[in-house]
Amino acid sequence: MSSTIDRSAAQGSRNVWEMAQAQLDDVALLLELNPGIHAFLRSPKRVLTVSVPCEMDDRSYRVFEGYRVQHNMSRGPAKGGIRFHPDVTLDEVKALAMWMSWKCALVDIPFGGAKGGIICDPKNMSMRELEHMTRRYTSEISIIIGPERDIPAPDVYTTPQIMAWIMDTFSMMRGYSIPGVVTGKPIAIGGSLGRDKATARGCMFVIDEALRELGISADGARVAIQGFGNAGLHAAELMSVAGYKIVAVSDSRGGIANAKGIDVKKLIAHKSETGSVVGFSGGDAMSNKDVLECDCDVLIPAALEKVITAENAPRIKAKVVAEAANGPTLPEADSILFDRGIMVLPDILANAGGVTVSYFEWVQDLQENFWDEEEVNARLKRTMVRAFKATYEKAKQHKINMRRGAYVLAVGRVAEATMLRGVYP
Ligand code: GLU
Repeated sequence: MSSTIDRSAAQGSRNVWEMAQAQLDDVALLLELNPGIHAFLRSPKRVLTVSVPCEMDDRSYRVFEGYRVQHNMSRGPAKGGIRFHPDVTLDEVKALAMWMSWKCALVDIPFGGAKGGIICDPKNMSMRELEHMTRRYTSEISIIIGPERDIPAPDVYTTPQIMAWIMDTFSMMRGYSIPGVVTGKPIAIGGSLGRDKATARGCMFVIDEALRELGISADGARVAIQGFGNAGLHAAELMSVAGYKIVAVSDSRGGIANAKGIDVKKLIAHKSETGSVVGFSGGDAMSNKDVLECDCDVLIPAALEKVITAENAPRIKAKVVAEAANGPTLPEADSILFDRGIMVLPDILANAGGVTVSYFEWVQDLQENFWDEEEVNARLKRTMVRAFKATYEKAKQHKINMRRGAYVLAVGRVAEATMLRGVYP
């Protein structure tokens, strides 16, 4: 390891940024990456911290802390979502931005990586408060975003409505409509058909491919899903229609299980009535943690980071783990799962469907020419299948796990672009 790189962060207790850096260090060795380029890729290009003052409904003022991190822009404008969550930290946003660089490179779309976040509790804020906070945050980060610079999108607890406010605020500041500044927008203002389900659909496409390689029939394959937000809910819906059997589902409040298969339509209705999957009559209560270890063929962590650890990895029963969430598996758990013959479809592959259709949305916005949903879904499928096959071949060729295979491809591409461009000045 070169002296230009301080690896101290990769040892000891792992916060999520240390985990992201450790994943890069691991593949840098495999790729025999030039030490200078390794150091370059190991830190973000640009970090912006903003104070977001906001008038609350009771007329008091609160100041939220927000971030926008651009990790790498060698392959194109930076791309990545914005997260509203009480546990957001700058380190988390840095990790998520780095993962976006690898994700965009793996599916080979011409973007770099970025991420944003605000430390807030959106579940306890009114629509008016959310709108004020979002608009002021947009104004604060407007100095570094734009269709040709950095394009935000939804992430945990951010919605198409929030994207609409971002688009409108940015547009009003410039004096004309600029739909390409953000993706995941409502269809009425330049969103793409198929974007809402794209993360889940892309995840299903790579699971289909993985099961085919493993000789497991998708028809009736048992699926457990942790998280019932945009990714988890739509995965349950699409996969149950496609013939998979959804046997367990959880959200932040708890979970439910039914070995005979959950009626997903009814579960979605229950969630929209009560705000949670908890209390659904078509299954038995199961804790959020137990969902990870339940008897199933496919496990989809679709919530937050660091849920699969060295402690629970030995008890995971799934044959395939598809990371719809970003960063759900700790590096030490990765090796345990690999040794146990469990195929982990890494986040930068398994959830890349979202950013892939974000790319399609941005292309449609720039061309002012919109595609039908069949076209979006067909292009998404081609992209996901191609990325799966390339990753699978790499992993097989080097006898490494799918994450390392994906990283070899993705980091290799970002490193190549960075090297070709050289260092300015
Ligand atoms: N937040 C999503 C992700 O982590 C989507 C990002 C985007 O569409 O730009 O991939």
